Amino acid sequence: MTCKCCNRRAFLTSAASAATASALMPAPALAQAAPRVVVIGGGFAGASAARTLKKADPRIAVTLVEASPTFTACPFSNLVIGGLREITAQQFGYDKVAADGIQIAFATATRVDPQARTLTLDNGSTLAYDRLVVAPGIDIRWDGLPGYTEAAAEKMPHAWKAGEQTLLLRRQLEAMQDGGVVVMSAPANPFRCPPGPYERASLIANYLKTKKPKSKLILLDAKDTFSKQRLFQNAWKELYPDHLEWVALSKGGKVTSVDVANHTLVTDFGNHKAAVANVIPPQKAGRIAEVAGVADATGWCPIDAATFESKSVPNIHVLGDAIIAGGMPKSAFSANAQAKVCAAAIVKLLDGQPPSQPKLINTCYSVVGPNYGITVAGVYIPVNGVLTDVQGAGGVSPVEAPPSTRAQEALFAQGWFNALTSEAFG
Ligand SMILES: Cc1cc2nc3c(=O)[nH]c(=O)nc-3n(C[C@H](O)[C@H](O)[C@H](O)COP(=O)(O)OP(=O)(O)OC[C@H]3O[C@@H](n4cnc5c(N)ncnc54)[C@H](O)[C@@H]3O)c2cc1C
Repeated sequence: MTCKCCNRRAFLTSAASAATASALMPAPALAQAAPRVVVIGGGFAGASAARTLKKADPRIAVTLVEASPTFTACPFSNLVIGGLREITAQQFGYDKVAADGIQIAFATATRVDPQARTLTLDNGSTLAYDRLVVAPGIDIRWDGLPGYTEAAAEKMPHAWKAGEQTLLLRRQLEAMQDGGVVVMSAPANPFRCPPGPYERASLIANYLKTKKPKSKLILLDAKDTFSKQRLFQNAWKELYPDHLEWVALSKGGKVTSVDVANHTLVTDFGNHKAAVANVIPPQKAGRIAEVAGVADATGWCPIDAATFESKSVPNIHVLGDAIIAGGMPKSAFSANAQAKVCAAAIVKLLDGQPPSQPKLINTCYSVVGPNYGITVAGVYIPVNGVLTDVQGAGGVSPVEAPPSTRAQEALFAQGWFNALTSEAFG
């Protein structure tokens, strides 16, 4: 007998195989020799796209342009902040990507000329492309929250790009006196990783409960509802009743400005002075998307849902957090799934064939505490050009479940991280 949950997993597995199978199709006979595909951004989307392209057709000359020789992954970075993991476990190099036959340029792409089909790097070199993939992740909207500047982020870290910011927030928590109040703010939609702020609040609360029991965390939210809300709130009641307080939009949760000098987050309902402040500000697609002309007035990039080709500029595909993805959340899992579909579409387009209709999946794991994991999963197909949630195909972890189920999901989360990072970085 199979339960509802098993049926969901079976469906997701078959959807995953479908996406993988289409991505790893037999190499087509390309009309021209060595078409050139350049990928900007070696994160979950870009590295996965480059590797899938090269595997699908080794004759394609694939170049990956990445600003940093070491990638620091955001998934699981909340565990680093909560003192349960080291940053080194988050870091990946590109040796294995290069070993696949992909040219790697460690540089920042600064200009794109869609007419000439070239891009310029900050080291002065120029690369020509037949198809360009833009996968730059997010940038912070420095004009999105009054008072929150790049200098302010050195005092009140966002830690929404993993690396130095992650470590800064961890050090601030470690240095805080027992009894200090941690204040976090979560932005309005859309933003990178919808369950991320709530996972972070949970893991900071876990740190406080175990290391600074007189302290508490206040999470100010610009929303009234959020991803996996019931599961998170039940877990908070069970695990952190004295250490975590969530303030919804309707209860005055929206942060309208920050006062860095006084270490204070300001709302219409009052001010919150923090011993440690973690501001997750509004975001937009990485800057090169705007420079390339693929971002619209929202700051995000409209794409064709079957090929991920930009709706504004032909021959440029956009992936990952930078895109307007309909119902699909901005996650590393989504970025990887989109990369496979996009790579398969590019191979077909270069060969003059029509792209297939894709089916994509996403699963977001959140770790709420040691041995306590929860998930949300979804399946997405293009409907009228928009990635749309297939009703009934996804779901969330059961609301009532024994500790063994939560522990198993925490283990699955670890397995997922290992699988995804090995797909992207080898
Ligand atoms: C705290 C936190 C927890 C998260 N947890 C999860 C999770 O559990 N599961 C999950 O699926 N997702 C999670 N995410 C979301 C996930 O990190 C993102 O969705 C994912 O990284 C998006 O991939 P991407 O390739 O679009 O962007 P990124 O992974 O950010 O990669 C973008 C890359 O582009 C490079 N780049 C940018 N501009 C240029 C340029 N001009 N030239 C050269 N290189 C450039 C950057 O250096 C970077 O390496 C989490 C995010 C956060 C913040």
